[in-house]
Amino acid sequence: MSTGEGTRAVRAGLPEARKYEPTLPGPVFAAHYHLPGEPTGPYAYGRDSNPTWTLLEQAVGELEAPGETGVETVAFASGMAAVSAVLLSQVRAGDAVVLPDDGYQALPLVREQLEEYGVEVRTAPTGGDAQLTVLDGAKLLWIETPSNPGLDVCDVRRLADAAHAGGTLVAVDNTLATPLGQRPLALGADFAVASGTKGLTGHGDLLLGYVVCRNPALASRVRLWRKVVGAIPGPMEAWLAHRSLATLQLRSDRQCANALALARALSGRAEVTGLRYPGLPEDPSHEIAAEQMRRFGSVVSFELPGRDHAERFLAEARLVDDATSFGSVRSSAERRGRWGGDAVAEGFIRFSAGVEDTDDLVADVLRALDAAES
Ligand SMILES: *Cc1c(COP(=O)(O)O)cnc(C)c1O
Repeated sequence: MSTGEGTRAVRAGLPEARKYEPTLPGPVFAAHYHLPGEPTGPYAYGRDSNPTWTLLEQAVGELEAPGETGVETVAFASGMAAVSAVLLSQVRAGDAVVLPDDGYQALPLVREQLEEYGVEVRTAPTGGDAQLTVLDGAKLLWIETPSNPGLDVCDVRRLADAAHAGGTLVAVDNTLATPLGQRPLALGADFAVASGTKGLTGHGDLLLGYVVCRNPALASRVRLWRKVVGAIPGPMEAWLAHRSLATLQLRSDRQCANALALARALSGRAEVTGLRYPGLPEDPSHEIAAEQMRRFGSVVSFELPGRDHAERFLAEARLVDDATSFGSVRSSAERRGRWGGDAVAEGFIRFSAGVEDTDDLVADVLRALDAAES
């Protein structure tokens, strides 16, 4: 049966209906399972497998690669657990890895770790498909598109084709887009990797990560890595995440509509510079984003004239939490420069649109901008 993505999201990963059983079975809390005799069967010990993960992994796989069989998903304790699992399970001393130089702020930490293990790390910007220039002979290409927090977009298919021609594996961080915004495997990636902490689960109340891939040999290395380092999601988090998927389409639609409305409103403000949102037709990323994305995400970035101005704006906004992270049902924003690490101006704001009524959110932001001017 072919289904639309909203229908898919509400039914993803659900087991066959059984009389007197809930539609989505509750979390299974087990360190070990009854296992008399020969230790065969799917569930033996809680670090290896858990029925609550099994259902969640099935669901995420259905969203990342609808209608495909043989897709394997491995859930992790956090996005960074998933990112590290792909990189550290696939590369060896002497290999070269290509990372973006404008990606998630923990990537430089991964870079240090890789270099300590004798891996050569090359970087290039996301925009302009610049990673193509440093691809030669690499074992793995890591793509983050749209990039966080700069919101540059690269052409995944073009990069994946070039990488595969040289025998390079391709992983795409799909955190910002979510599987309803972009499907990396269909664009040619070997791995779709994401933090489920952000828009996927969308309530700002849990950490989760996942890796999806088609190749069983690659998947089994990732699965083995999870078992070796024990970076496993708790059953409660896995269950909450699965429960949250039912509203993914509703949340994404409202968040994307709010992000676009905000971007439009911000583009009319004299004090706002460097506005980026891939869904804005005039955005430098829009053309390629429109080709490979189905939704443009909840994150808008822009600059205000300096640190104090930005701080006043954040303090004035009432519907917007001054908080890091993104993708929650509640709008949030932060002055990204407070962390160091990202190459951003002091007045740079990363804004994550929630699911508030569009008019309320835009009015609140415009009022806060007015108040921040005086
Ligand atoms: C947040 C984030 C991560 C890391 O996820 P955690 O769940 O915080 O470990 C990785 N990539 C991107 C693009 C992110 O935004």
